Amino acid sequence: MTYKETAYAPYDFANRRHIGPSPAEMTEMLEAVGAPSLDALIDQIVPDDIRLKTPMTWGKALSEQGVLAKLRSVADKNRVMTSFIGQGYHGTVTPPPIQRNIFENPAWYTAYTPYQPEISQGRLEALLNYQTMIADLTALDVANASLLDEGTAAAEAVALCQRSAKSKATAFFVDQDCHPQTIAVVKTRAEALGWTVVTGNPFADLDPAAVFGALFQYPGTYGHVHDFTDVIAKLHAAGALACVAADPLALTVLKAPGEMGADIAIGTTQRFGVPMGYGGPHAAYMAVKDALKRNMPGRIVGVSIDARGNRAYRLSLQTREQHIRREKATSNVCTAQALLAVMASMYAVFHGPEGLKAIAERIHRKTVRLANGLEAAGFKVEPAAFFDTITIEVGAVQGAILKSAEAEGINLRRVGTTKIGISLDERATRAHTEAIWRAFGIDRRDDDLSHDYRLPQALVRSSDYLTHPVFHMNRAEAEMTRYMRRLADRDLALDRAMIPLGSCTMKLNATAEMMALSWPQFADVHPFAPETQTAGYAEMLRDLEAKLCLVTGYNAFSMQPNSGAQGEYAGLLTIQAYHRARGEGHRDVCLIPTSAHGTNPASAQMVGMKVVVVRVADNGDIDLDDFRAKAEAHAANLAACMITYPSTHGVFETTVREICQITHQHGGQVYLDGANMNAMVGLSRPGDIGSDVSHLNLHKTFAIPHGGGGPGMGPIGVKAHLAPYLPGNPMQADGGAVSAAPYGSASILLISWAYCLLMGGEGLTQATKVAILNANYIASRLKAAYPILYSAGGRVAHECILDTRVMKDRAGVTVDDVAKRLVDCGFHAPTMSWPVAGTLMVEPTESEPKAELDRFIAAMLGIAAEVEAIVEGKLDAEDNPLKRAPHTVEDLVGDWNRPYSREAACFPAGAFRVDKYWSPVNRVDNVYGDRHLICSCPPLESYAEAAE
Ligand SMILES: *Cc1c(COP(=O)(O)O)cnc(C)c1O
Repeated sequence: MTYKETAYAPYDFANRRHIGPSPAEMTEMLEAVGAPSLDALIDQIVPDDIRLKTPMTWGKALSEQGVLAKLRSVADKNRVMTSFIGQGYHGTVTPPPIQRNIFENPAWYTAYTPYQPEISQGRLEALLNYQTMIADLTALDVANASLLDEGTAAAEAVALCQRSAKSKATAFFVDQDCHPQTIAVVKTRAEALGWTVVTGNPFADLDPAAVFGALFQYPGTYGHVHDFTDVIAKLHAAGALACVAADPLALTVLKAPGEMGADIAIGTTQRFGVPMGYGGPHAAYMAVKDALKRNMPGRIVGVSIDARGNRAYRLSLQTREQHIRREKATSNVCTAQALLAVMASMYAVFHGPEGLKAIAERIHRKTVRLANGLEAAGFKVEPAAFFDTITIEVGAVQGAILKSAEAEGINLRRVGTTKIGISLDERATRAHTEAIWRAFGIDRRDDDLSHDYRLPQALVRSSDYLTHPVFHMNRAEAEMTRYMRRLADRDLALDRAMIPLGSCTMKLNATAEMMALSWPQFADVHPFAPETQTAGYAEMLRDLEAKLCLVTGYNAFSMQPNSGAQGEYAGLLTIQAYHRARGEGHRDVCLIPTSAHGTNPASAQMVGMKVVVVRVADNGDIDLDDFRAKAEAHAANLAACMITYPSTHGVFETTVREICQITHQHGGQVYLDGANMNAMVGLSRPGDIGSDVSHLNLHKTFAIPHGGGGPGMGPIGVKAHLAPYLPGNPMQADGGAVSAAPYGSASILLISWAYCLLMGGEGLTQATKVAILNANYIASRLKAAYPILYSAGGRVAHECILDTRVMKDRAGVTVDDVAKRLVDCGFHAPTMSWPVAGTLMVEPTESEPKAELDRFIAAMLGIAAEVEAIVEGKLDAEDNPLKRAPHTVEDLVGDWNRPYSREAACFPAGAFRVDKYWSPVNRVDNVYGDRHLICSCPPLESYAEAAE
């Protein structure tokens, strides 16, 4: 018989996972935008002189199963050991409900930063729990919602001291017992700004009058537990501030930094259930005294009320942040570590204060027994009192012991040339202790189970913590699971709807790309494990770097920066180091157009550059005359320019090459912000256009999920001449480290690598083209209702700016009203009021199928119709669905005396009937929240009410 075979080959087209519209849908969409073909559309939009002339390729794209097999083979090249290296990274047990329901749950990991509070109440509550946990453990007043890692948190603390201390000294003191990588990252930050870092023993070498602040580690990197109360008092008397880098688990049994008088505490919450991942991602924390809160970097969740007076969470004190204050911001932090902060907070919710304390005590007792055994065999163990870390003097046999331990499957820490450090963790067993003893040549059973404590008597904690009811739930997994589910359901993430945030590139995070993160061969690797154990990671890093070089036209990459903003900082430092090496260290002017993302000027400020603002012409392009004039005027001191391409307005400016030339001609280097690479991959390369350095937001263009505000990765690519000045390894003395770990949050690089393998060069190029098609489809369908800004020839790049200002003029409807009404329609609002105030910037990405684009278009047209109804007097100017949005289930019950129906309120165009997303709160009152600042869990109401 002749059998007619289906033409469908599902497994050959793994990259169809990433590309939303089907081929048939694309044909319809091209018709709607009036382009004969996808390639013709691209030719109309991407200028010919910046186009990549040869297709980007690196062999055949792998299937999903092929990618997973590849990841497995690379995983098997890592050797997973038990690492008792410590130094800020510890083995930990991720409670399975947290692993599956948060870490591996797209409802949590595909959310965006909670700028739209109404659709973010779940993660805002989890982050508030995190802040409460940190404030309690450190005994300080206000904590933020996470920073990138302990090293950068320390660097931020230095800057905070400098901003806030009375002392006008220019030096900062760092305890020699701080982790070496922390010292390295602090030095980088301080040196860029001309502050001296003095390292030494706080009890012998610290002159309080000579410094504006000091940082101590608690417990110290070698295990010492000191009381800093007296040194802190002396610092205060001299007008300086005190910071303590503290292990939050140790704080369950040890006196808190706040109780010693510290002004600032920082640290990492990695060991609260977040895998080491060869360096990250994990959440760092910062907590401060009340007087410092307005100077604190990072996001702070606060409590406010909604339009009905009900409790609602939101981000507070945003006026400190880069997106508002630009070069005057307290830091450049944008993406942080929200998902990991949520995990750490859930770990505390899961265990409660008693559970955390019991874990800490068990680790301590094991360390005591380990030390006892070593001492009984004649080894000199330091210190006499400790928490979980001891250091042993071993002399010439250091190498032999480390090797024997390795043969037992255990990594210990090499300290100097004669000592060994050991930090036990939650996973340590008696078998581990016995194996360590064997490595030291001791034949001994760990069977003395007497409860000895060697905590320093005077520093045993007596104060309470985690007293809030959320940390005292019934310990049944059923309750915990439902709590996490309840919070997830309050939020709108990519697993429910398109998140069309311009510049943020909220694309698909394919499941196959995420799976390897949970594998122990990647999750359980210590960042300072010997290289002989990390061949798999090394292979992935090499290959990813090679691919990113192909994508960008650069010659080398540094994987250190943990966010885009951190990439900017690292890139500008690289430029600075290059100038200095050429004897041109005086160059300190950075040209930045007014349209730049807020992180650009904030980063320039962090490296001590002077920001000179360049005008933007009416068509959205950089004003070339102004640029040239300013470059000439500052030629003697020009260090760099920072541009975004395509521009933040979503335009491929034809003058980009000229801008690069002008910068070079006047001795500057070009920093090209790569956040918009989703419009370029496979079509055009920054390195070919004349740029010298860029960061890539791997959490935008390269499929790492946004995690509700982090993690992210912002590696920087450079041309060859800058390669020698890339950030140095934080564990080696080569300087310039910007992160605590040599490859930043290494484990999530696996996602971007898997994405590249799954797509192939052609697939990535196709994704770019479809991203541009999707944006143009939306622009074409909406242009009659909304003016599209900067759309030369009716075309846009990968995003489009919808002008809603006319609605304000005609009907008093603000961009905020439109954004909140979109919540009723089941959408996350597009980027609001940036780069143009009063507008919405829409970036659909290639991942969205036509049906979802059409739903969004229907919603936007419905909103435009409501605005017309106000203009025509058919809807009240004040009491209308736009002003009252978002609507909640509370609006379905009780009296209803509004001039529009409940049906119109709750089921506007675009909203699903059965799968309707219900905002858990009505519109959040921002002003109230900043006036009545509460940044930890509110005391009164019981959480039981939420369960009703
Ligand atoms: C997202 C973005 C950044 C900052 O990236 P983070 O990872 O959030 O720090 C910088 N510039 C532009 C244009 C961006 O869109």
